[in-house]
Amino acid sequence: MEKFDVVVIGGGPGGYPAAIRAAQLGVSVALVEREALGGTCLNWGCIPTKALISCSDLYSGITHGVEMGIKADSVSFNYSTMVKRKEEVVSRLKNGVGQLLKANGVTVFEGTAGFTGRGKLDIKGQNGKSSAKLEAGKVIIATGSSSAFPGFLPKNACVVDSRGFLDLTKLPASMIVLGGGVIGCELACMAAQLGTKVTIVEMLEDVLMVLDKDVRRVVRGHMEKELGIEVLAGVRMEKIEVVKGGGGVTGVVGKTSVNAELLLVSVGRRPVTDGLDLEKAGLSVDKHGCIEIDEYCRTKVATIYAVGDVTAGSTQLAHAATAQGIMAAENACGEKGDAAERLVPACIFTAPEIGSVGLTEEEAVRQNKPVKTGKFLFASLGKAMAAGETNGFVKWVVDAGSDQLLGAQAVGAHATELIAEATLAIRAELTAEEVGRTIHCHPTFSEAWMEAAHAVHGQCIHAGPKRKRDS
Ligand code: FAD
Repeated sequence: MEKFDVVVIGGGPGGYPAAIRAAQLGVSVALVEREALGGTCLNWGCIPTKALISCSDLYSGITHGVEMGIKADSVSFNYSTMVKRKEEVVSRLKNGVGQLLKANGVTVFEGTAGFTGRGKLDIKGQNGKSSAKLEAGKVIIATGSSSAFPGFLPKNACVVDSRGFLDLTKLPASMIVLGGGVIGCELACMAAQLGTKVTIVEMLEDVLMVLDKDVRRVVRGHMEKELGIEVLAGVRMEKIEVVKGGGGVTGVVGKTSVNAELLLVSVGRRPVTDGLDLEKAGLSVDKHGCIEIDEYCRTKVATIYAVGDVTAGSTQLAHAATAQGIMAAENACGEKGDAAERLVPACIFTAPEIGSVGLTEEEAVRQNKPVKTGKFLFASLGKAMAAGETNGFVKWVVDAGSDQLLGAQAVGAHATELIAEATLAIRAELTAEEVGRTIHCHPTFSEAWMEAAHAVHGQCIHAGPKRKRDS
């Protein structure tokens, strides 16, 4: 039995920062990972998707360069080279995580960790045999999530989840994407930019339903008009059959049937708790299979914490898992006692990109919060015009009484970077007036935040008075 002050289960963006932070605080730390350091994010999520999206964005940019005087008639791409590059990026980052853990003195165990008691863990190798036994003062569970795969879907090479999709070395000529959420839309845009004929089937009334409706309008418009993606929203996929011989799938949606080479299933993620034997530690899961935690990431057992996708109410975002992991480690080491940050920005790498933080206008209305909004269109922004990136806008949602910023949305070029300024401003409890008076460099996309803040008060310099009150 090896003893550690803190044992972290899972080496994803929730687990490995937790292990490093605990080690920085001077305690002995072990991390158990059963598959690959970096977890979903680094191996089958954020990083590989963005590596491929960077390629498809570049290809799309070059092929649409005519307006800017760039004639590139004979541009072509090699998807397997893109995949190889993606794997190199993943491998480099994964090695980096291993080196960081080592440099901080974290002992890494390979295998599946399961509880045999409150602070006791057994680690099993791939053959199912016990390879180590650990005793822990505190345990941080960071076992993440995996793709939901509805039972009615056929098991066939033509039917993949996001992880299976990322393993493909050739893009399909046509693809049905079941589920118009974040992952489905990101991969749909990437494949469509590279020439795949994509049909999205979404049960809800629109794709990306959690977002501001104006943001959705811009993205859906681009997806349909520029990328040729067919969006079937507000409908159910009633049946899906593999074509005889395995040469593709046929999906039935109402009276329509859609044929495609591939079905990408992206209908959500499920928490991973298999093999943990939670009951032996006195823990259980809720009706969704998640581990319940308080605002300090404590489970109902005082010495056991849980962070990231496996927890109830998770935002299923890597940076949120990391923030929780660091905070749980500090609390487990008796360091700080801070509660988890509640302001979590979200980035979506569709074409065009999206960034969102805090309240949307619709949420504010649902909560009966009196708000004002200020919006600034990229079409009126000097830098956006110079860059040929005029499709998009930024928008502030502001408390009508105090002028305090409550939420922000950005859609268009660099939206995933732009949202950082809005997040900082909201966290610092700034008012729209303060942002409006903050001098922003010209010409930049970030000036749009300043203009949108002026728009809240009808004082926008670069938009006509009719935008005095944003609609
Ligand atoms: P995970 O990253 O899932 O890591 C959990 C780890 O625990 C895994 O490595 C697993 O092998 C290990 N494990 C599980 N059980 C055990 C056990 N019993 N013993 C030992 N090890 C165990 N988020 C963003 O913020 N931005 C993005 O752009 C983004 N893009 C995404 C794209 C895709 C295609 C997907 C699928 C996800 C994306 N996400 C993105 C979500 C992000 O990947 C997750 O929110 C994040 O990885 C969750 O981190 P985690 O540490 O909770 O779990």
